[in-house]
Amino acid sequence: MRYGFGVDIFGPNIKFGFFDEEGNLIDKWKIAAPINTESNKIIPAVAKEVESYLKKKGINEEDVIGIGVGIPGPVDRTGVVQKCVNLGWGVFNIEHALSGLAAMKVKAGNISTLSALGESWKGSGSVNTVFMAMNTGLGGGIICDGRLVRGNNGGAGEIGHIVVNKAEKEPCACGKFGCAEQYCSPAGIVRVARRMLTNTGAPSVLRYKKFFDYKDVLKAAEENDELSINVMNRVYEYAGQALAAVCCVVNPDTVVLGGEFCKIGQPAMEGVARSFKKYVFQANENVRFTFAALDTDACIYGAFKLVLDNYG
Ligand SMILES: [Zn+2]
Repeated sequence: MRYGFGVDIFGPNIKFGFFDEEGNLIDKWKIAAPINTESNKIIPAVAKEVESYLKKKGINEEDVIGIGVGIPGPVDRTGVVQKCVNLGWGVFNIEHALSGLAAMKVKAGNISTLSALGESWKGSGSVNTVFMAMNTGLGGGIICDGRLVRGNNGGAGEIGHIVVNKAEKEPCACGKFGCAEQYCSPAGIVRVARRMLTNTGAPSVLRYKKFFDYKDVLKAAEENDELSINVMNRVYEYAGQALAAVCCVVNPDTVVLGGEFCKIGQPAMEGVARSFKKYVFQANENVRFTFAALDTDACIYGAFKLVLDNYG
């Protein structure tokens, strides 16, 4: 039996998964990322952790296929990180850097797209999957015929930056106006709610709160606060609109909703699917909607699958 690692470098922590070649997760653990010291210490920390794990378990390096790595930013197919603001990284080849230190084959990709690959392989997805997850932002990933769609420079699958509202006057974090992420994210939900409170006289429990977060909006919607229901419907409308655009292009059989969508549950599923049906081309009307199954492990599964596909 051969083995491999899936690693998720998501900021304060680095998560490791150790898999057999069939994709069974044998072990998983986290270490604190040396992020506030010097960002280039992260790669040596990953190499050291892999080495000490193999030593501890008495596993021969020849039996290891390699290390798959997910990072919160785009990586092209040659391993070049374009820029990773969250980790304070500029442009460099992460695959060469880690491969040199760990003396092992390395493949790297974006966390969201690798999560899509993980869900497609071992979660709720299928070989033709569109994945959309609401976390801090709105991430996505596309799997076509079992392969991860990476694009020219690793920027494929950025569903959150599909423009869904041309009338938007405030810029998205990316600099454009009206991206889905401006509404379908925790900060976006609060913003939509604040606007509705300002622009309408509709009664709402939110009016009596000086500060509220998106969980307050969700809770109010669950308790039949009409304005909050309208806010969430607006959010689902835009999410469905973005998904419909993607599905018209890639024609998946499954859409997997992850992150906060899973926590919201059925109202999110129904709301997004309802909007999706309104906008999508008829060939995609019967796409199956489902929730992600691997939760926060999706990325380590996808990272290992990436290295397995390339070197297994
Ligand atoms: Zn944007």
